Amino acid sequence: MIIFSGGTGTPKLLDGLKRVLPHEDIHVVVNTAEDIWVGGNLITPDIDTVLYLFSEKIDRSKWWGVDGDTFQTHQSMLDAGFDEGMMIGDVDRATHIMRSELLRSGLSLTESIRELCRHFGISAGIYPMTDDPVSTYISIPEGKLHFQDFWVGKRGEPDVLDVTIDGIRNASISPSVLELLEKEDNVLIGPSNPITSIGPIIALPGMVDILKGKNVVAISPIIGNEPVSGPAGKLMAAKGYDVSSKGVAECYADFLDVMVIDSTDTSDIKDIESVGCEVRQENTLMKSVEVSENLSESVIRIFKELNIYGIN
Ligand code: GDP
Repeated sequence: MIIFSGGTGTPKLLDGLKRVLPHEDIHVVVNTAEDIWVGGNLITPDIDTVLYLFSEKIDRSKWWGVDGDTFQTHQSMLDAGFDEGMMIGDVDRATHIMRSELLRSGLSLTESIRELCRHFGISAGIYPMTDDPVSTYISIPEGKLHFQDFWVGKRGEPDVLDVTIDGIRNASISPSVLELLEKEDNVLIGPSNPITSIGPIIALPGMVDILKGKNVVAISPIIGNEPVSGPAGKLMAAKGYDVSSKGVAECYADFLDVMVIDSTDTSDIKDIESVGCEVRQENTLMKSVEVSENLSESVIRIFKELNIYGIN
């Protein structure tokens, strides 16, 4: 199975999926549009969360960084009056340094992540969506900010006027992801931010056409009219989408077969289905790994049905 992922909601699902599928059958295509160079190193927040999840290092209280990490380097820099703008743990920083050194030695991002997977003993596939530089920018009344400056620097507080992905038109789907998409028919879009996490993956030139020929299941990150966490609501509204599972279905309307919404979501199902997909209801609020595991099993059942009965 191929899973499109950001850095919080989908990794929670992967936590369950890796208990029910052999890791070799899990191929995670990860957003890179929030990547940023800090302190001389490339930080790939969404990829790192997936790396730490599969290497059993993730800090599950925050869904970023390494559990039990220390912040001595970060603190020493702050003490010297040097603010990097984001908190980077010491062990986490080691990952950033290794990746950046691999990149500086001439490896592509895909190859450098493959090396890190080998180093961490990960057998699942973790793939950057592209090897080309792309960056999400948030337009606020005062100007245009890199996503990290909006989300970490300004805590996501300013009004959002627009969201743009710089570099996306000239970016290519990474060759490894293309190869994967040729072999695999089942694509799961995890419960991630449809604008800033999944948006860049599906905006890669050619991706929508490829997805039209796949079984595509998505899990909504919105329950009722609220995201479970993060700025998805504000960003969806800025792009003209309703903040609801129907709005999420509209983001994926070109290729979506089944939308999984939460069992407590009282949205009008027929209204969501009018977008051109089927709707299933499951417990999608992943407060424990058991919930993620059950949700993963449901998703596997849905793919089996799609493969037996075909798509809409
Ligand atoms: P980011 O890269 O940190 O922005 O993370 P993602 O895009 O992967 O995840 C953020 C989205 O995950 C938000 O829109 C949340 O609403 C959603 N999310 C987080 N936890 C859960 C959960 O337990 N269930 C569901 N359905 N969505 C979740």
